[in-house]
Amino acid sequence: MFSGNLYVISAPSGAGKSSLISALLAKNDSKNMMLSVSHTTRSPREGEVDGVHYYFTSHDEFEQLISKNLFLEYAKVFGGHYYGTSLPVIEKSLAAGIDVFLDIDWQGARQVRSKYPAAKSIFILPPSISALERRLIGRAQDSQEVITNRMAKAVDEMSHYDEYDYVIINDDFEHALADLEHILRAERLTVSCQKVQNSALIHQLLVK
Ligand code: GDP
Ligand code: ADP
Ligand code: 5GP
Repeated sequence: MFSGNLYVISAPSGAGKSSLISALLAKNDSKNMMLSVSHTTRSPREGEVDGVHYYFTSHDEFEQLISKNLFLEYAKVFGGHYYGTSLPVIEKSLAAGIDVFLDIDWQGARQVRSKYPAAKSIFILPPSISALERRLIGRAQDSQEVITNRMAKAVDEMSHYDEYDYVIINDDFEHALADLEHILRAERLTVSCQKVQNSALIHQLLVK
């Protein structure tokens, strides 16, 4: 039984999942929480650092990692690019009691749910389609062609929202961040979590 929780977070591109996860990590004890760094075959955006934002990997290398069963999940997301979550790092972190966040698409979320039924999944929705487009344009990191492609995929991604345990609407950022923090707090209070976190106390209390 792992003592850390595994959280899967999905959203259409531009809904704010990266911003919410990094604000959450910045506000909280980052020794107890981490964002998993995925492998991807897409090219780095300006400012993206290998090993920090992603492990930027060639198509061939990625397929070698697949054949060695080193991914918890992987999927082809945008423009036929592979994205995948490396398994060994996650298992080590969960075993050490660290909560791990996966910023992955709905196809990956399905694979994680079937392999780790204890994972909790959260879907982030934008307040409107026009706000989503404004955010993608405002982020100023993608070409018009990439933005058009991501907007076209947004409805498809959002149509999977009801496969998740929780939905957060990211309208006011601070409100959405508070929603995320409340989910985490509640999850730490479940019986299965408390059994692990407070095993010594529970043992003492139940001695007759
Ligand atoms: P973003 O949408 O602006 O965050 O753009 P990214 O290029 O960072 O992510 C593109 C898509 O790939 C998103 O839907 C992510 O959730 C998804 N994604 C990122 N990493 C992974 C991963 O390891 N596995 C899977 N299945 N999807 C991922
Ligand atoms: P994702 O990781 O889902 O693609 P980002 O976190 O990169 O999305 O957010 C996309 C853009 O929208 C960023 O420029 C971010 O600063 C902005 N953004 C995120 N949340 C909000 C919000 N609640 N209100 C306004 N802008 C936001
Ligand atoms: P971007 O190319 O904008 O960095 O990411 C595009 C999408 O890929 C995002 O929606 C992100 O959640 C998803 N993504 C990133 N890493 C992974 C991953 O490891 N696995 C899966 N399935 N999706 C990922």
